[in-house]
Amino acid sequence: MSKTTETILEINLTALGNNYRYLKSKLNDDTKFLGVVKAFAYGSDAIVVAKELEVLGIDYFAVAYVSEGVNLRNAGIKTPILVLHPQLENFETLIDRCLEPSLYSGRALNHFIKIATEKKQSNYPVHLKFNTGLNRLGFHEREVDKIFSVLNTTTSIKVASIFSHLAVSEDLKEKDFSETQINLFTSISSNLSTKINQQPKLHMCNTSGLLNFPEAQFDMVRCGIGLYGFSNITKEQKNFTPVATLKTVISQIHHINGGESVGYNRSFKSTSPIITATLPIGHADGISRSYGNGKGWVWIHGKKAPIIGNVCMDMLMIEITTIDCKEGDEVIVFGAENSIENLTDNINSISYELLTAISQRVKRVITKK
Ligand SMILES: *Cc1c(COP(=O)(O)O)cnc(C)c1O
Repeated sequence: MSKTTETILEINLTALGNNYRYLKSKLNDDTKFLGVVKAFAYGSDAIVVAKELEVLGIDYFAVAYVSEGVNLRNAGIKTPILVLHPQLENFETLIDRCLEPSLYSGRALNHFIKIATEKKQSNYPVHLKFNTGLNRLGFHEREVDKIFSVLNTTTSIKVASIFSHLAVSEDLKEKDFSETQINLFTSISSNLSTKINQQPKLHMCNTSGLLNFPEAQFDMVRCGIGLYGFSNITKEQKNFTPVATLKTVISQIHHINGGESVGYNRSFKSTSPIITATLPIGHADGISRSYGNGKGWVWIHGKKAPIIGNVCMDMLMIEITTIDCKEGDEVIVFGAENSIENLTDNINSISYELLTAISQRVKRVITKK
């Protein structure tokens, strides 16, 4: 491993492949695998990740917005791409770039049919999303008949899949709730499939859905966080390897006397002489101010150094009094050995949030190891 000389996010494609194969080992032979690569592939690098997964034989990708799908197409990705939350004004671009919309409301469905018809499409693949309890996006069960009659008016689109999303798949204390969602989805999808006399693909599970409810994998699963090395389930975590490691370096070391303060607003005041280090990473790089004042830490030569004072835009300060280190030494913020989840747990956040917050200013470095 080369030593870093600046702040970088290292992306380990070997770990990605291992996580992919582990998730795939949970699938029945005919279950398809959709890799979720929204938000720069959870803060890593969507193009690099999608290219690697395409080589590994993934069946489908999903992104949240049309612009994310366009970026993948511009990079030469050929695999089908489901756009989970397309905005109506981007439907034309979506069709131009062979992206497939999730349609989740009468308004979206009608508008998509209008655009697809204007663009002289026939059987354009769309994915109908049903709300089964998350109450975020999706048609209601009672809209099935209305959807059926709208579908009957057009040959511009065809239903490639019917799907829904679990609200609390990682938490087995809420198993009953998840099972109610799964049952409702089964009933809605069979009702609609019978009406349209076709068998669209069905899918419901995200990563923790697949791990906790493998019997609900239907025809496809939609995994995001698991690909990037997190299961959300303690007993499963050993089977995953985090893909991203955030590294930085020590810019400068200071010897602080008792009674001095460190950083903006003087929020840290030393009561005895200490040694501090300043790092070239701040809230503009994605390290929230919430990690300041001892709530977060970094690792230097395997030792934990707390963040002191307020996190600045481009820098943060840590205490290194008992750590043997020097200017230019490597610092790990999180990685395979220093779990991001310990950091995020401490401020009531989750891996998803810190991963996707790492800003585009941080250089991505791709490795295989
Ligand atoms: C983000 C997302 C996923 C992926 O969930 P993970 O928990 O990251 O596996 C799946 N489905 C939908 C609808 C999503 O928005």
